[in-house]
This record gives sequence, structure tokens and C-alpha cells, in this order.
Amino acid sequence: MSSNLPELPDEVWAQILPFVKEYPETLSCPPRNALRNGALIRAAQVSKLWYHICKPLLFTHIVTENFPFLISKAAQAPFRACLATTKTLRIEYSAKGQDPSYWNLLHTGGAIWNRYRMVDPELEEGIDTDDVLVRACEREIKALMAALVVGNKLGGLGKIFPKLESLSISSIYGRENAAWAHYDLSKQMEMMFIRDTNQCGDNFARFVNTGNLRNLCVRSLEAPLNIPAMTFASNSSTPSTYTRVVHFPAAVAHLPSCFGTPIRWVSDAPPTADWAPIITSLLEQVTAIADHRQEIQGARRDVAKIDIYCSTNRFTPCAYKDRISYTEYDIPGFQGPLLGFDPTDEACLFLPEEEQERICRGLSSAVQELFRGRSGLQDIVNWYPSSQTPTCLACGSGVPVLRGEDTRVDYDRG
Ligand SMILES: [Zn+2]
Repeated sequence: MSSNLPELPDEVWAQILPFVKEYPETLSCPPRNALRNGALIRAAQVSKLWYHICKPLLFTHIVTENFPFLISKAAQAPFRACLATTKTLRIEYSAKGQDPSYWNLLHTGGAIWNRYRMVDPELEEGIDTDDVLVRACEREIKALMAALVVGNKLGGLGKIFPKLESLSISSIYGRENAAWAHYDLSKQMEMMFIRDTNQCGDNFARFVNTGNLRNLCVRSLEAPLNIPAMTFASNSSTPSTYTRVVHFPAAVAHLPSCFGTPIRWVSDAPPTADWAPIITSLLEQVTAIADHRQEIQGARRDVAKIDIYCSTNRFTPCAYKDRISYTEYDIPGFQGPLLGFDPTDEACLFLPEEEQERICRGLSSAVQELFRGRSGLQDIVNWYPSSQTPTCLACGSGVPVLRGEDTRVDYDRG
């Protein structure tokens, strides 16, 4: 060991060095270099002792924003041996719409330059930021698809990460992945009803179902690494036993559903957001799922077991009434949240916990009845207030909290 280090017993260094590891918190959106653990990598190069202490720290809990690179390394035997100890994996999507750092450019020899705008002569003049984002998403989907093909050839998650217990997708930057929502919208406008993200999601499901995973959670629901839109346990050749948590934003689109296996839908909306448009956007998804399930379920008997955790402490009766009165959502139970309120009231009211619980109980039975009525099965749906959100065993998030930019009340009278 280098002579300028203090003389400490080995076991004391083993206690100290874990503090060098950076492990970003869920939804904390830190600068991207926080994912790279530069300090820990440098510490591992100090001495043989430090290498042996740091190596498991680097591989037991992995955070990556470059899943294709991780998979390409997994094809190499020495690196593969390190992944055999990995217990948790957090996969983030790459940063989009930002210039690369000098460190990144130097580190990759300029290979990442293609991900940015300057290389594209069409875009040098009159840069269209939206177009840049769409292209960046397209490139990432292509890279992820190729990585999943390689990953599945290597035997899937179970072979590459035999000890992996928890996998979370987009758990760190999931709040700021507007690029994927934008990409999704642009594909809808091009009338591409079969989204290329769907195919990526199917390959991802095949990859994940090979493992002994216990917990999976996803955010950024428009993005490609996702739980497939609708799965039936009886239709799967590789039944999976892991828990599934879908963390959804205030305006939810593409809410994945499973039948025959439990699924938890958890709202990420901050406590001060107006609950009215959040409920209606969720009910729109739920109604679409109940309808679509009937089209593809056939004779299957896979029962829904859905736990929903979604409430806030603000509610605008008028906003709720306006959005729920569309004919296709005119289901009697969906009017429940308006009980006791003046439906013309445009004020964003404060909702105490017991009011949230009352509304949640009504929504539980309304959604359960909707599912049972369409399927004829004994579906089970429970809707709980956000204050009761259990800790996600994959990403560690619990009850949604206020963050700096959430303090304003989110009015949506749409
Ligand atoms: Zn989670």
C-alpha cells in the first residue's frame, strides 16, 4: 500500500471505502457523472487491498445509462464473472438534447459524437430540437434492440446476472424523460400504430423472464424497456414470479397491465398536484385496458389482481366533472369522487386524508366492478391513498414527496 496512506487495519478500510461509492437516490436526477463512480474506480487502482474491497462495491449494485455497453462487456468472460455477483441493476436512458461533456468525448474517443446534433449537416442550420430528440430516441431504441438480441443469445438475464434480485428502469431520471413522451407523440402523428418501442419491450420481457428476479419496477412508460402492454400468465411459456411495480406520472399514458399475476400501479404525482385530472387520466387508461382485454383474452381465465396507490391532497370538482362527463367514461361509479362537492366549484380544494380514503374506497369498487363486468371473472382491484404507498422493493421509492419544482399547484381544467 502507498506509504502516504495512514496505517489502518484492512477491516477498517473495508468499513471506510463503501462511503466513496455514489449511489443516486430515486428520482433525484443528479448530474450524469454521478452514475460513473469515478472516485470508487480510482480508489480500486490504489492497491491490491483497495481493489479487493472496491470490486464488489462496483458490481453488487450497478447503475448504468448505457445498457448496450454493459451487455457488450458481458460477452467477455472476465467481466462476466464480475456480473455473477450483481444483486441490483438500475438502467437509465441516455441523456438527450444535451451536449456531451468534454470528459465523455475524450473518454469515448468521440464515438458518442453521433448521438449529438453537430454531425448531422441537415440540422446544422435551423436546428429543430424536437427532431434531434426523436432521432436520439430512434438511435437508442436501435442500440437497445441490438443489445437485447445479444443478451438473449447469451442466455438472458438469468445467465448474465444469476444473482440479480431487483431491476429498476428509469428510476433516477424518470421525472425528466420528456424526450420519450415527445417521441411517442411524433410516432402517433405519423400514424405508426405499432410502436417500435413495443417490439423492444417484448424482447426485454423475454430477456428478463429468464432470470430469478424478485422485483421489477418501471418508469418512463413511453420508453422501450418496459412491461409489455398486456400480458396473461396462462399465455406465457416462462411464467415469471417477480413483483411488478409501474410508477406512473400525473398524466399517464400506456399503463401496462398483467392478468393472472399481481401488478401495482403507483402514482409519482406530488401531494400538491390537483388529483382531479390524475384520476380521470387513470380512469381513461383503466377503461381502455378493460375493453382491450376483452378483445384479446379469449377463453383465458386470468384474473386481475391490481393494487393502485394514487391520491393527492388537492381536488378541483369542476375539473373532474368536465373530464369525466365524456360518454365513454360515463360509468356511474366514476361520479363517486364528486359526492359531497359542488361539481361546478372551480376552486382547487384541500383534501384531508380521510376524504382521500373515502374517494379511494369508491374508486376501488368502481374499477373492480368495471373489470368484473367486462370479464365475468372475480377480478380484484384495490385503490389506496398515496400516503399508504409501500416501499418499492426494486427502486426504494415510497410515498411521493414534494420536490423543489413541485410546490406550485398543478391546475388542469382541460
Ligand atoms: Zn420502484
